[in-house]
Amino acid sequence: MTTKSDAKIENATSATASAEISSAEAVKADIVKADVVVIGAGLSGLVTATLAAGAGRRVIILDQEHKDSLGGQAWWSFGGLFLVDTPEQRRLGVKDSFELAWDDWLGSANFAPGAAEGIGPDRYGYAWARSFVEAAAGDLRPWLHSLGVRWFPFVQWAERGGYLVGGHGNSVPRFHITWGTGPGLVAPFAARARELEKQGRLEFRFRHRVTELIKTDGKVTGVRAQILQDDAAIRASEEFEGRGKPSSRDIVGEVELTANAVVVASGGIGANPELARDRWNPEVGKLPARMLHGVPDSTDGAMLGIAQQAGAALVHEDRMWHYPEGIANHSPVWTKHGIRILPGPSSLWLDAEGKRLPAPLFPGFDALGALQHITKGEHDHSWFILNKTIMETEFALSGSEQNPDLTGKDIPLLAQRVLPGAVGPVAKFAKESPEFLWADTVTELAAKMNALTSATPGSSGHIDAAELAEHIRLRDEQVATGLGKDPQVVATRAARDFWVDRRIRVAPPRPITDAKDGPLLAVRLSVLTRKTLGGLWCDLSGRVLKEDGTVLDGLWAVGEAAGFGGGGVHGHRALEGTFVGGCIHTGRVTGRALTTAG
Ligand SMILES: Cc1cc2nc3c(=O)[nH]c(=O)nc-3n(C[C@H](O)[C@H](O)[C@H](O)COP(=O)(O)OP(=O)(O)OC[C@H]3O[C@@H](n4cnc5c(N)ncnc54)[C@H](O)[C@@H]3O)c2cc1C
Repeated sequence: MTTKSDAKIENATSATASAEISSAEAVKADIVKADVVVIGAGLSGLVTATLAAGAGRRVIILDQEHKDSLGGQAWWSFGGLFLVDTPEQRRLGVKDSFELAWDDWLGSANFAPGAAEGIGPDRYGYAWARSFVEAAAGDLRPWLHSLGVRWFPFVQWAERGGYLVGGHGNSVPRFHITWGTGPGLVAPFAARARELEKQGRLEFRFRHRVTELIKTDGKVTGVRAQILQDDAAIRASEEFEGRGKPSSRDIVGEVELTANAVVVASGGIGANPELARDRWNPEVGKLPARMLHGVPDSTDGAMLGIAQQAGAALVHEDRMWHYPEGIANHSPVWTKHGIRILPGPSSLWLDAEGKRLPAPLFPGFDALGALQHITKGEHDHSWFILNKTIMETEFALSGSEQNPDLTGKDIPLLAQRVLPGAVGPVAKFAKESPEFLWADTVTELAAKMNALTSATPGSSGHIDAAELAEHIRLRDEQVATGLGKDPQVVATRAARDFWVDRRIRVAPPRPITDAKDGPLLAVRLSVLTRKTLGGLWCDLSGRVLKEDGTVLDGLWAVGEAAGFGGGGVHGHRALEGTFVGGCIHTGRVTGRALTTAG
């Protein structure tokens, strides 16, 4: 951190940094001036930068990755957007409204007392939440539509909750999948940025890693960045031998940039499992030592610490949104690459000891509740128990690369979703993943589960075949009644009242052991890191605040780095689709504010 008021930009190269610089390359200390420097070329950075540059600001975007990684996490994302009362919902008969969505949000967020009255650390998160839900029910969709974004007509029902009204969950389906998934959402902003670049109003500097914020008289006036060796690793094709390896961190130069405004758009901490473990609230146990990573390596969280050193306040660091339903990617693109199963509600969910997770921790109901149930135990995994038909109907996978039909806007391929059988990427996991265990009998299934985890009779984590058979029998007996009292069975039946669920997402309720739906399947699920809900504390225009609540002049934050607004727009839980949506909303608000800020 540079706090000296007389920071000399001529002496940019620090002794520590120069010691790391690759000797093979020329080292250059450069000085560059801009109105706005944006750190991060992910979705939030792109939205902010294009709005500010479009309004006449000279903007430079820095990113530590290669130009092929433009769009950051959003490019890899499913592009699911939380939108309210849309034409897509109405066509499906879904009755939604701002009031309903806001009630759902408050029930999920569980903001600290006082937030609504403008008191306490949640006060800005609360206000950002209100403005986000207003936008989601208001002009966010029309604005994106005017930029050419379109949506898959079958709106999905994420985070169903299952608690009493006033608790967590979406009352209705609101997850709008972008046509073209993540890349389809990034495209209009990337195109606009390229246009502004040609006009000389916006400049990209890739392979620039910011290591320090420069302060002059208490104001953030610029950044110091290392220039990294050119390396396209992350977005490389399957044939590229560097695929799955982190990009090079060899330093070939340094640069210092001065600006009236510096915007932190650097994402969260999902690729830094040590940090995630360290920050996890001990009241809900521990994040396991073995976890999969649901985000690219660039989501390293380092920039949050750099901002903090410069005097920014980080709030709600223990609020995170990781998933319990991760499976290891057979073709990894980044370190410990995991994929999230987006499950339908029918699978039995068992902990590592073979006990059913309590109600309402059913697949797709309360991701964080299920995760916390697991972190309170001593194991790093849990199990879905199902059969081939349930897998084929209910398993979807998150991310652009696992949905080639939607990502590639390939209608013939997409049509296969309504046909019997699993979609291609799910079928590939079913065939190739060592975590998908197939068996004709429950005894054989239990034996395979124990073999995978090396559990022996009497050891912790050993699955007892008789107990497993009894869970399945009791569940199947409920299903056979056609009614039943088991809340999962009841909720699964009710889900089929929604046309999309009945048609493509929820299997007809039948016994798991029904031979015509077999064979049986057990899937080992691991914890998958993903989103950071807390972040840099910001006011309602995105200006970063200090611990005392006053503005840290010159510094702004957007997207995941800002906890998607105000340092924690979600409170404790998310309704899904609110992350890419939050990047666009914060980028839009802050991008506009930067055009009027001095
Ligand atoms: C597989 C996957 C599926 C997802 N699906 C959905 C979904 O359907 N719906 C939804 O709402 N959300 C989804 N998300 C989450 C969402 O995509 C992210 O939360 C969001 O895109 C974060 O955007 P961002 O701009 O804040 O940060 P990022 O996309 O992380 O961008 C930050 C950029 O900053 C750069 N950077 C970091 N530190 C530095 C530094 N020191 N110097 C220079 N550059 C730096 C990084 O290289 C990166 O390019 C998904 C995420 C993934 C990975």
